[in-house]
Amino acid sequence: MSNIAQNLIYINQQLPEEVTLVAVSKTKPIVDIQEAYNAGQRIFGENKIQEMVEKYDALPKDIKWHMIGHLQSNKVKYMAHFVDLIHGVDKLSTLKEINKQAKKHNRVIDCLLQVKIAKEDTKFGFSHDEIINTLNSDIINTFENVKIVGFMGMATFTDNQQQLQEEFLSLKKLFTELKVKNTSLKVLSMGMSGDFKLAIKNGSTMVRVGSSIFGHRNYNP
Ligand SMILES: *Cc1c(COP(=O)(O)O)cnc(C)c1O
Repeated sequence: MSNIAQNLIYINQQLPEEVTLVAVSKTKPIVDIQEAYNAGQRIFGENKIQEMVEKYDALPKDIKWHMIGHLQSNKVKYMAHFVDLIHGVDKLSTLKEINKQAKKHNRVIDCLLQVKIAKEDTKFGFSHDEIINTLNSDIINTFENVKIVGFMGMATFTDNQQQLQEEFLSLKKLFTELKVKNTSLKVLSMGMSGDFKLAIKNGSTMVRVGSSIFGHRNYNP
């Protein structure tokens, strides 16, 4: 059995049944994804639209492709015909563009709003107040071709378990509160290779795991 298949088994053993695994395949070659596919994995995450499109074209069509990276509005059109879930929506204008492109393909595209949970300054996302205002805004209801199905959060890059736990819990709390009125909120995407177990303990329903499945990424050509 291949390493990738073994890693997938190992990770799946650690996931409760109701938690969805997104295998983050960014920078990894088609053969690696095919190997994970052969081992049963069907949901893959990419952070660059062009790379995702190339992989979509080359691989089996029952794969669900998740866009997990920061989005440039002008590139949404390239994936609108197939993307299954967009994790990192952090601007109303992006949502508007997704709506426009989805409409052209007669689709409703599921989206997650990215919420800023990290204390460090570099991460994208809405603040808690902005999330509440956005969900309550009238304009959102005019977007017939996008469906906001949940939130995505990225914790600070740290080993401090206490801090990670606080960041995950803050998002879980917001999610639980807003779910009461917004019944389409079902997905809480948080947790990566280093912190997915803690994220699950603190309410995650979807984890995005890359290097623990495919090995370390090498960004040098
Ligand atoms: C790369 C990436 C991941 C996966 O990271 P690993 O540490 O390799 O598991 C998860 N989420 C996002 C948004 C990413 O860009």
